Amino acid sequence: MSTPNPGMDRDTFDQFLDQLERYVRERLIPAEKQVIEEDKVPDDILAEMKDMGLFGLTVPEDYGGAGLNITQYAKVVQTMAYAAPAYRSIFSINVGMFNSAIKNGGTEAQKAEWWPRIAGGEIACFGLTEPGSGSDSAAMQTMARPDPDGNGWILNGTKRYITNAPHADVALIMARTEKDALPKNAHVSAFIVPMDTPGVSTGSPDKKMGQSGSHISDVMLDDVHVPSEALLGGETGQGFRFAMMSLDNGRISVGAASAGYARRALDSATKYATERQAFGEPIANFQLIQQMLAESWTEIYAAEAMMADVTARVDRGEDTVKHAAAFKVFASEMCGRVVDRVVQIYGGAGYLAEYDAERFFRDARIYRIYEGTTQILQLQIAKRMLREHAAGV
Ligand SMILES: Cc1cc2nc3c(=O)[nH]c(=O)nc-3n(C[C@H](O)[C@H](O)[C@H](O)COP(=O)(O)OP(=O)(O)OC[C@H]3O[C@@H](n4cnc5c(N)ncnc54)[C@H](O)[C@@H]3O)c2cc1C
Repeated sequence: MSTPNPGMDRDTFDQFLDQLERYVRERLIPAEKQVIEEDKVPDDILAEMKDMGLFGLTVPEDYGGAGLNITQYAKVVQTMAYAAPAYRSIFSINVGMFNSAIKNGGTEAQKAEWWPRIAGGEIACFGLTEPGSGSDSAAMQTMARPDPDGNGWILNGTKRYITNAPHADVALIMARTEKDALPKNAHVSAFIVPMDTPGVSTGSPDKKMGQSGSHISDVMLDDVHVPSEALLGGETGQGFRFAMMSLDNGRISVGAASAGYARRALDSATKYATERQAFGEPIANFQLIQQMLAESWTEIYAAEAMMADVTARVDRGEDTVKHAAAFKVFASEMCGRVVDRVVQIYGGAGYLAEYDAERFFRDARIYRIYEGTTQILQLQIAKRMLREHAAGV
């Protein structure tokens, strides 16, 4: 158990959330077409999001952040995720991964340096995946060797599919400090690497199935020298642990995003069903359409209830590895089922790029894959269950 987190004062948070809901409906949704056509979040919206404090939601107030607890943070993500996913994606690594790693493992000096910077809108990325290692992240090949001059570390390797890498200011890079030593994950360390460090470069943004406006690319590290202060926590061998703790947080963010986006898709389908006529009446009158609407609503409600439970547990300081994994699996799979039904409710129009249903379907697909695939998380849940069973918990 860690210390309970009260977060932002309740009334202030409720007001913030109300304003955010209005901002999503009145500003972000109307700009979605532009995000898709230009494949980027417009600069003026990005500046507004920074001003609203979205890049430092969970950074403590003393360091320039909004000081939200996890319950509040998940609600913000869910609210933002009602609009196109690119809006969440641009700040999600700051909050879900980078800030969480600094919080769990950073030294006081690292917190003092990086929290105000990311809360102020510097964009972070998180480099775990590599060309040869994704789910099996401990198999990573990126190496960090002590600088022979005795002053810091030299990093070499390639990270793959790194969200926000093309416009990031800083990366948290996971690298091995021993090449072949076992267990592999005991020799992974995390390094804070400004993206303008000599030797750091990024590939062209990858073309993706969905989520226009959000970008991923390779990050290449070629004899990148970082000072000793760049080692997260100042201790080698802790990087894997910090990465896994950050992923718990990231999984809650993906679960919340799935719940928010599923509701958006369902609202769109409900409206369409009342407007579209077949056999002389709105298709919403047909009970088989109603079944799809009702199943979707029920499943979204279940995901929201899981979100309320897991985030309350985190804020009480409980161990939530199993719960965060279960929430992410359920919410992302649920979102996949909902967007599929939404395409069905739209009929032929559901298959056309002119309507929203098709992009909801493509955008949602990644939620079941990143920050732990459904399969890997199911293994993690079962591992915990079996361990608890053996321990008689
Ligand atoms: C849009 C996007 C953004 C991303 N952003 C980031 C980022 O910011 N930072 C980052 O580090 N990574 C990022 N990733 C990488 C992502 O986290 C990985 O793609 C994901 O973890 C899966 O790894 P993989 O692609 O290597 O798949 P693999 O590990 O090759 O898995 C392939 C399939 O095998 C299954 N599988 C693997 N092992 C097992 C097993 N033991 N039992 C059963 N099934 C198994 C998987 O579930 C999957 O279905 C991103 C990826 C995408 C597409």
